[in-house]
Amino acid sequence: MKAGVISLQGAAPEHVQALQRAMERMDVRGEVVAVRRPEQLASVSCIVIPGGESTTISKLLQRLGLYDPVVRMGREGVPILGTCAGCVLLASEGDDEVERTGTRLLNLMDMKVDRNAFGRQKDSFEAPLRIEGMDEEFPGIFIRGPVIERTWGRCKALCAHEGRIVMARQDNLLATSFHPELTGDTRLHELLLGML
Ligand code: GLN
Repeated sequence: MKAGVISLQGAAPEHVQALQRAMERMDVRGEVVAVRRPEQLASVSCIVIPGGESTTISKLLQRLGLYDPVVRMGREGVPILGTCAGCVLLASEGDDEVERTGTRLLNLMDMKVDRNAFGRQKDSFEAPLRIEGMDEEFPGIFIRGPVIERTWGRCKALCAHEGRIVMARQDNLLATSFHPELTGDTRLHELLLGML
């Protein structure tokens, strides 16, 4: 099994490590690839889009020829986990800031995101989360994360914090406002790998 982490900007190395730990825990043999070129995508069977700056990641995806292949793979059923900026990019609709910055979203999930709804860097916080389908709470780490304002169609909300949606799933696609890669908890990475 080969998993790919889009490694253009942001919290990519942490996802590589989290996926490696998840594979160990699931007792599967696999490899995690830091993806920077389109040809690297051909060999991966699932993808993580990390947190960072969604405008920058979107620009780099387009410039390096990764944008179209990622969209195609998402549509074809390849499991993709997008965290924080990655969650913004998976959405089909953004807020004014997405508009103003000309950020081209991947338009894969039926949801609208509000990009910096949780405030600035100094407003970062941690909160235990109840996620649908998980028995125990998940440690949520929020760093300028988006809020998922609404979902429609096949996209379903899986977790809310203080009444605001912070995680959603649409078939093979998973989006979180928070950063599972910054915790020791690999359950979300295991969920991604488990889709294979
Ligand atoms: N607010 C950032 C953005 O929308 C995301 C922050 C993060 O990924 N930690 O690009």
